[in-house]
Amino acid sequence: MGDALGAPFEFGLAGVFSTRFPVPATENEMCGGGGWDAGEATDDTQMAVHLAESLLERGGLDLPDVFARFQRWAACDPKDIGLQTEDVLTNGMPWDRAAATHFRTNHRAAGNGSLMRATTSAVYFAGRGQDATMDAARRIAALTHGDPATWEGTAVFHDLLRVALEGDDPVAALPGSLALVDPDHRERYSTVLAPRWHPDDATEFNGAVWPCLGSAVWALRTTSGYEDAIRAAIDLGGDTDTVAAVTGGLAGAVYGADAIPVRWTEPLHVPLPGSGERVLRLPELTDLARRLAG
Ligand SMILES: [Mg+2]
Repeated sequence: MGDALGAPFEFGLAGVFSTRFPVPATENEMCGGGGWDAGEATDDTQMAVHLAESLLERGGLDLPDVFARFQRWAACDPKDIGLQTEDVLTNGMPWDRAAATHFRTNHRAAGNGSLMRATTSAVYFAGRGQDATMDAARRIAALTHGDPATWEGTAVFHDLLRVALEGDDPVAALPGSLALVDPDHRERYSTVLAPRWHPDDATEFNGAVWPCLGSAVWALRTTSGYEDAIRAAIDLGGDTDTVAAVTGGLAGAVYGADAIPVRWTEPLHVPLPGSGERVLRLPELTDLARRLAG
């Protein structure tokens, strides 16, 4: 939901969303633009769905299968694809070496591209406990991202969803998640997840994993409902679709599906390059979520 709402505002300035839609619910904010139809989900959700279908059809985490599905998707000309993700999926290396090879030659590989697609896997692994869900997050992230910073951020996200789906407060549980972050990366995540951190404090563009996760938690922490959390995330500007997608995953787990307005769910659709002409709408997405939650 956050992905489709945020996509038309990608790379825009802060505040553009609330300038255009100053009062919530007076018109449909699912407006389209920037090459996206109203309600059309982008690569974030497309990859999340491919990951979900692999988990369900393989009955668990089959990393070569996930990688192959991502490759088929990348080969079918999705409207958007992260630069790093595209390189890793098309560089001809096998699934267990492609991302590491990219990281060795480019060094900078800490984009938010593994975090953006992690809601489905977070739901799937939530019931298996803290260690299992954080471990799965790291391994899935490593398929496309060789920088361990992205593994740790995705692992924290998985754990926050686990806590929320158990009915507890993920913000209150942050210290417990951070304690399991690799010590080499703990300080940086402690900074962006601290109560007083604000997205303006970020030292990188929010297309990087640290400010993206920090901004999503900030949006959750500083609002009191699903809609307001998403609005706050998009209003940060920058990588709006992904920051809002990550925020939507967290806020959805906290507030539940009933908190999502019908005016947003009605136009929502997820085209699936790499999977024929399928386009998933609310009934298919709801069914997918139910099966992931098992
Ligand atoms: Mg996107």
